[in-house]
Amino acid sequence: MSDSAEEGFDMTDKQMEERAETLLASSKNGILNIIKAGDPVLRRKSGKAWGALSPELLLNLIEAMRLTMLDAPGVGLAGPQVGLPLSLAVVEDHDRGIEGDERERSEFPFHVIIDPVYHPVEEKGEKPFFEGCLSVPGFQAVRRRWLEVDATWLDEEGVKHEERLHGWPARIFQHETDHLHGEIYIDKANTRSLTTYENLKDYWHIERTPDDMAKACDFEL
Ligand code: ZN
Repeated sequence: MSDSAEEGFDMTDKQMEERAETLLASSKNGILNIIKAGDPVLRRKSGKAWGALSPELLLNLIEAMRLTMLDAPGVGLAGPQVGLPLSLAVVEDHDRGIEGDERERSEFPFHVIIDPVYHPVEEKGEKPFFEGCLSVPGFQAVRRRWLEVDATWLDEEGVKHEERLHGWPARIFQHETDHLHGEIYIDKANTRSLTTYENLKDYWHIERTPDDMAKACDFEL
């Protein structure tokens, strides 16, 4: 629960620091509460993160977000999802060697993405696939994403990174960056594809192609 509904959309750096400290103090075993859909903090545009917090507070926040993401478990967690409208997210995923997995997962080691931006590599096109979000627990839906993006972000030391991402890492980067603009994946997902996680496993695992679902559930990809 957050009291964000009573706040304005602009927070000063001092207010952001106080909010971050309050959140960290309320963590349980280092795990933060994950904000669920319906809380306005997920719908506001996040403020620039670099320079907003002291270096020590930033590192403490990143570590708490890392533990929270692993505990969930998830492959990405953005500032607003822990109640902080600050433009940063943590990400981590691995190639799990699942045969027939269309997601094109690859090694995406843990890192923080601060003030991330992406530009689509349009000639590579989009790909529809199942996607979920820790703020909308228990459900997934088919969402089109750019297959490749040119991604830019700062790390925890303020060093700028530029990388072309492909497949699942590209999807994760887009999903998390969109959170920082007040979006949730379901905004642009095909709502006829909405499925509980149990039904996803029962009906669309492991081949679970969006194509099969589109035919069975009567929607266009
Ligand atoms: Zn999400």
